[in-house]
Amino acid sequence: MDKNQLYRSLPKVDVLLADEAIQPLCETYNRETVMEAIHDALDDVRDLIAGCEDEAAIEEAIRQLPDQVKAKTEALQKTHMRPVINGTGTILHTNLGRAPVSRAHMERLTELVSGYSNLEYDLEAGKRGERYDHFSDLLCKLTGAEAAMAVNNNAAAVMLILSSLAKGGEVIVSRGELVEIGGKFRIPDVMEQSGATLVEVGTTNKTHYEDYENAITEETRAILKVHTSNYRIVGFTESVGMEELKRLADAHGLPLIEDLGSGALVDLEKYGLSYEPTVQASIAHGADVVCFSGDKLLGGPQAGIIVGKKQYIDQMKKNQLTRALRIDKFTAGALELTLRDYISEEQAIQNVPVLHMITRTLEDVTAQAEELCATIQAAGVPGQIQTEPCQSQIGGGSLPLEEIPSRAVTIKREDIPAEALEKKLLSLPVPIVPRVTSDRVWLDVRTIERKQHALIAEELQTL
Ligand SMILES: *Cc1c(COP(=O)(O)O)cnc(C)c1O
Repeated sequence: MDKNQLYRSLPKVDVLLADEAIQPLCETYNRETVMEAIHDALDDVRDLIAGCEDEAAIEEAIRQLPDQVKAKTEALQKTHMRPVINGTGTILHTNLGRAPVSRAHMERLTELVSGYSNLEYDLEAGKRGERYDHFSDLLCKLTGAEAAMAVNNNAAAVMLILSSLAKGGEVIVSRGELVEIGGKFRIPDVMEQSGATLVEVGTTNKTHYEDYENAITEETRAILKVHTSNYRIVGFTESVGMEELKRLADAHGLPLIEDLGSGALVDLEKYGLSYEPTVQASIAHGADVVCFSGDKLLGGPQAGIIVGKKQYIDQMKKNQLTRALRIDKFTAGALELTLRDYISEEQAIQNVPVLHMITRTLEDVTAQAEELCATIQAAGVPGQIQTEPCQSQIGGGSLPLEEIPSRAVTIKREDIPAEALEKKLLSLPVPIVPRVTSDRVWLDVRTIERKQHALIAEELQTL
């Protein structure tokens, strides 16, 4: 085989560029991207010539060049961040973007962010306003608090609160509440970063009123209660409730802070879930400052929402950190739209995707699983395909023990082990993220929309 002859037979770049299959790509995309794809494809073939002794295979690769260029151009234009189908049944899946935001809201948000808006402009006064103005009154109305603001996420909220109210002083926290949340958020570390000193009291399972009382010194700046949102301590346990802590805090003129984490505005017990403290309850029990995530049970954009006494919120607004942690216009807009849904609980359950998914009935998901199963079978997808009962989870470090009865479509292929099938699902154009157990892949329909069924069937057909 004459390799030099093969190298010489490679088409020149401008010849490829003029190819009738490639030229239109320059119009659809742009010349620069197509050129990059051409160089890439030619490099591949040169590598093949260098390392392969099969002349027929090399000639075939040369014939395939235009197709390769097209595929590479398309790949170069594809965004790295893409939609996926969540078949895991985990509603707040942090790796999959936590809370999905309602489509209707996104349409209205497009209007707000693709042009100019009154983000920080008070239209009545004709002068500078605050980016919190769009949602702070609403938050106060919904939670009973005096004032409100929001920052980048709840980790930032905790940091800002501690830095504003307790820098250089001590903050008392129960040992049973020294939470670690995924992604390296640990209460002791955040405390250190904020410049406040952590004073741990009690033990892992029991903390008493006197433990807090005995820890108060001249240096104490605040009492912090952290909701153990992602774990539960059960058995021989005791913790001090908010009302009691409020009594102690007031007696010493200290602010009582509560990090609620998941931050529900709707009492989920009504919908069959375990008790999860609401923001309203925390304020009613006397918390001076409460913080929670925007994209956990609230079901809005990523944000750290802070509500509480006006004097403390004002202190935080003046903190230099606020400028570094501030929310952008996307968040401010999405937060207002989400909170407006909460004016009516019924509307919130319907419009906020997270609440809708949590409260879907077993009958509803069972019917949907049958529909998805039938659609997949009708498409002639090979394998053993059936519906089976399963358990959905809330996820996102909220209600860790909660399992919601649900229904899944399961797929078993004799010729492909479940783990390999999972890999294939993840490499589809619109990746499908399943759960894998009992040698099957599971698609829990609680986190799947009915309008995705046709796409799922179409994609599974190609496997
Ligand atoms: C989730 C959580 C946080 C961190 O919130 P992010 O919005 O993810 O930054 C902090 N504290 C508690 C108790 C949480 O549950």
